[in-house]
Formats: sequence, C-alpha cells, structure tokens
Amino acid sequence: MDAGLIRVPCQCGGEECQETVLLTRGSAEASRASKELVLAPGHARMWAPHARREARRLREEARALKAEGREARLRRDELWASAKEAQLPVDLDAARAALEARVARMWLHLDDALWELLVIHEVSVEEILARVMGSLGSARGDVAEL
Ligand SMILES: [Zn+2]
Repeated sequence: MDAGLIRVPCQCGGEECQETVLLTRGSAEASRASKELVLAPGHARMWAPHARREARRLREEARALKAEGREARLRRDELWASAKEAQLPVDLDAARAALEARVARMWLHLDDALWELLVIHEVSVEEILARVMGSLGSARGDVAEL
C-alpha cells in the first residue's frame, strides 16, 4: 500500500458491513474534521439505527457491569461480615464509607475513560468491550484465588 494512503472502515453503520475505503491521508483527515461519513461504493448511511444499536449495546453492557459491581459488593460484604465475626479491630463504618467513596470514584473514572475512548479517540465499541471483558475475566480469576 502506498505510504500516503490509509484504509478506513466504511461508516455506513450496517451491522454486517466489513468494507474499507482507501483514502489519502489528507482526505481522511478532511472527512474526519468535517464529520463526513466515509462510505464504501453503494453503501448508504444508516446512522440512526446504528446509533440506536450502539446505545442499546452500551446500556446492556452498563447493566452487566452494574451486576458485576453488585457481585463485588456482595463479596465485600461477606468479607466484612467474616472480619466482624472474627472480631478484628476494624472501624467497619469508616472503612466501609472509604470503600464506597472509592468505588464511586472508580465509576466516574470509568465513565470518563469510556467517553474519551469513544468520542475523542474514536475507539470502536467492540474494541472497548473486548478489553472490558478481558479485564473482567482476569479479575474474576484473581477473585477465585482469594
Ligand atoms: Zn458499509
């Protein structure tokens, strides 16, 4: 491939679309700057349904992440309960409040990071989800080892 040319995925939004379009670096940057969609020949823009699908998928993933969070909270509560039973000298209320503040901060960081990846860096939802699922897989492995 010519060094001046880059391959850009078709942005028609079709669920099955795998097409790419060969553009010069200049015209790729121009269409990015003008927010113009890059479309493979014969592909029509399906932006609205595509956006709806992405939004729905993000909501589903958010729900799944929330469920994961719930599991983690339950696990944490169990740990605190067993610490209490063992009568460890722990200020449970202070420790719990600190943990909850930390969890709230983490959710905010996650929201910020997701927004930046999607909107600023234009990372695909698929790529983000693959990364998230990978991380959850290894985190689960860590929990199982506890
Ligand atoms: Zn397409």
